[in-house]
Amino acid sequence: MSKEDCIFCKIINKEIPSKIIYEDDRVLAIEDINPVAPVHILLLPKEHIASLDDASENSIELLGYIQLMAARLARDMKIADHGYRLVNNCGEWGGQTVFHIHYHLLGGKEMGWPPF
Ligand code: AMP
Ligand code: ZN
Repeated sequence: MSKEDCIFCKIINKEIPSKIIYEDDRVLAIEDINPVAPVHILLLPKEHIASLDDASENSIELLGYIQLMAARLARDMKIADHGYRLVNNCGEWGGQTVFHIHYHLLGGKEMGWPPF
């Protein structure tokens, strides 16, 4: 899927509405449209990178920043004390359906393992 057809790029560009939780110049955090936990936030880098498999060393700082933002949001959303999960689905078998790299921040309930 090209950047032009990317639903998350359209959300980032405000061409498609979303419930924005947090935004800065590098990252957008939105509510997932189909939540699977009481707190289900998607963290999207504003730069279009299709998947973790497509990331390069140029993105080390950006991906580290997103993880720290996830931790900050988890604290803001009051899910940090009990614990939470930060997930990246990569590729078809990883369960990725939108090919713009993103992390799921999930919390507000106890989770199981393994996740399949
Ligand atoms: P993944 O399966 O890891 O690629 O995750 C894609 C996620 O995007 C799913 O959890 C969807 O529910 C979510 N999603 C798809 N379209 C939208 C949208 N327009 N607004 C918010 N979340 C969306
Ligand atoms: Zn995109």
